Amino acid sequence: MQGEPEKQRSVIAMLEGIPDLLYGFADVGEDLPKDLKELPFAVSIGIPLSDAIMDPVVDGPNQVYYDAYRSVNERLDALTRQIQQAIEQTGYRAHAFASSERTDFVNVAGDFPHKTAAVKSGLGWLGRSSLLITRRFGPRVRISTVVTDLPLPVQDFSKTNFCGSCRRCVEACPAQAIVGNAWSQGVLRESLVDVRKCDAWKIKNYPQFDGLVCGVCVAVCPHGAKKKP
Ligand code: SF4
Ligand code: SF4
Repeated sequence: MQGEPEKQRSVIAMLEGIPDLLYGFADVGEDLPKDLKELPFAVSIGIPLSDAIMDPVVDGPNQVYYDAYRSVNERLDALTRQIQQAIEQTGYRAHAFASSERTDFVNVAGDFPHKTAAVKSGLGWLGRSSLLITRRFGPRVRISTVVTDLPLPVQDFSKTNFCGSCRRCVEACPAQAIVGNAWSQGVLRESLVDVRKCDAWKIKNYPQFDGLVCGVCVAVCPHGAKKKP
């Protein structure tokens, strides 16, 4: 019979075996809906989008980007199911959130704020764009989360913002949806970005992509762009 450290190690070994995966652990108890409060530990995961796909998006979204967006979301959902099953096999409970499913149409949100878990896990910070910005790939990542009652080795990461004086996403946003404020812990999304303006722009201008993507703020960020835009 495995003890708790062995169970943790088996989950970490499984995560280490997944190519190109960013991952981290966090305590997200205070961010969970009531029915999931008993699963306070999060496995936050991210998959990068390649520069070949992202670089052309400085001029707006295209079919290649939209296809990649959908296929990475599908891969994230397959991975979170796999992680959930791996945890359940250790005898603990787990729940995989959908990577990109809007369930709250009033507040323009899903069941769980993946970015909160990612920041708490040390994967990055939130940019002026309210996107998760990772050190290695900038905002060129898509993220998802599994929560569990398996105690995971969480750390208290510094929640520092490395945007500095940069305002590229603010200036490039075609919808003028990015307010321009710098993120720090506790800053509300509304102070960073007007998600309704962003949504309205995508729906009006990119119906061929179901109004789901724009990506200009992702592509222009100097963090993650090898050739600075
Ligand atoms: S483009 Fe600049 S301001 Fe916007 S998120 Fe990236 S670093 Fe921050
Ligand atoms: S996705 Fe496009 S419209 Fe929305 S905030 Fe980013 S740049 Fe602006």
